[in-house]
Amino acid sequence: MDPPVPPDAARIGPNALIRTAEALTARLGEPTCRRVLDAAGLERYAAAPPAVMVPEDEVVALHRAVRAVLDRPTADAVMHDAGVRTARYLLAHRIPRPAQRVLRALPAGLAARLLLGLIARHAWTFAGSAELQIVHGKPARVIFHGSPLARVEAGDRPVCGFYVATFETLFRALVDARTVARETACAATGAAACTLELSW
Ligand SMILES: [Zn+2]
Repeated sequence: MDPPVPPDAARIGPNALIRTAEALTARLGEPTCRRVLDAAGLERYAAAPPAVMVPEDEVVALHRAVRAVLDRPTADAVMHDAGVRTARYLLAHRIPRPAQRVLRALPAGLAARLLLGLIARHAWTFAGSAELQIVHGKPARVIFHGSPLARVEAGDRPVCGFYVATFETLFRALVDARTVARETACAATGAAACTLELSW
């Protein structure tokens, strides 16, 4: 199930680009998707989505363009949608069905520990240059030291909604359907790290 480990740590799996383009097209239409890709300097992906790991800077550029072209609520909704789509893709194609059945059958606390362990082992596919720290418990915490998404926009509120939606969707499918994820600290607002809190 795993692609080979990339030699360059500052790369991210193509989902962060592909699912964002999908969310843009689904919600706002193809012309708007193209406008955002153009603004990011990634117009080549309109015709041929990336099939391999992409430079982290391209993901940052696309997410920055989403926020530059669209108003804030629309940009937030697109990034959330992209995160949900990423999780659905992982559930459909990357996380083996037997493992999913085991996780669903376990008590939520244990399933959360195992799922977070699995996620941590695959951090290289989505965290880019960030270092991931997992704090087990209820709530569970996922801490990104140096989240690339936090470089998208500095301001007064968290901007890593893509990760929030991905984790929340995975947890709702595999740990507890009532899981709520939120980013309680974000480097974009000056915090030392981005902290995702998962409660169920
Ligand atoms: Zn953040």
